[in-house]
Amino acid sequence: MIQVIFPLTGYGLLFYSLYVYTVRVHAGLGLQQDAVLAIGCGLFLLSVLTYTRLLWERNGSFQVPDGRAKDDDSRYCQKCDLVRFPRTKHCRECDACVLRMDHHCPWIGGCVGLHNHKLFLQFLAYTASYVIWIWMTGVPAILDVIQSIAGKDIFTLSRLWTVYVLYLWSLLSAVQSLVTSIITFSWHPFLSPSLTSQWSVYAGIELHWLALLVIGFLFMLVLSGFACFHFYLALRDKTTREIFGRRRQRPDRFPASTKIH
Ligand SMILES: [Zn+2]
Ligand SMILES: [Zn+2]
Repeated sequence: MIQVIFPLTGYGLLFYSLYVYTVRVHAGLGLQQDAVLAIGCGLFLLSVLTYTRLLWERNGSFQVPDGRAKDDDSRYCQKCDLVRFPRTKHCRECDACVLRMDHHCPWIGGCVGLHNHKLFLQFLAYTASYVIWIWMTGVPAILDVIQSIAGKDIFTLSRLWTVYVLYLWSLLSAVQSLVTSIITFSWHPFLSPSLTSQWSVYAGIELHWLALLVIGFLFMLVLSGFACFHFYLALRDKTTREIFGRRRQRPDRFPASTKIH
């Protein structure tokens, strides 16, 4: 189940961001920036293609048993019945030994290892560039429109806070009415009347714009941070497990035999 939910969420986020960027922002605001739009769509395509390949080839790094005799070596894996190559680790989720295992990634429902490490780095680079691009080129136009609708003092903290709270409230209300619809098998309008009247103060401001503004910003930070971390690891020829595993392997400060008086 979880192997389906994460990839669907991943595709959903990618395609929703493309919809907001092309339809709600570029077409909706009448931006005449064909080159900017083309670069955004190009980065989106690269991102989706590498993501699809990652999903498709997620089992590519599994070590295949080669018939070598069992030994008492600590590198022997009982579950897979093979002697592991150096830097190979057994992944519990995949239930297989993964060559040069970096980490198990729920977004691809598989491991990042020897076989798909380069592809994983490409995906991170494309997706981080895509999010940065659509945020940097989409948000100035959105802010211009919000400013003209909500007045010049939109950037005062309290005004921006109001818009943000309304946005969160709308999300919660949408989730709540969706849950109610499912439980009672009936259709509820997504925005309650009280909320609609509050929102009418900012009539014309689309939730999609705020999604790009707020969620896009968070994804920009997380993805670029993650990409930098993984490129740093690749430059040092280290895997995530090796970097974090080393800390765990440090000897205890107080071994079990030490008596503390
Ligand atoms: Zn194994
Ligand atoms: Zn795995």
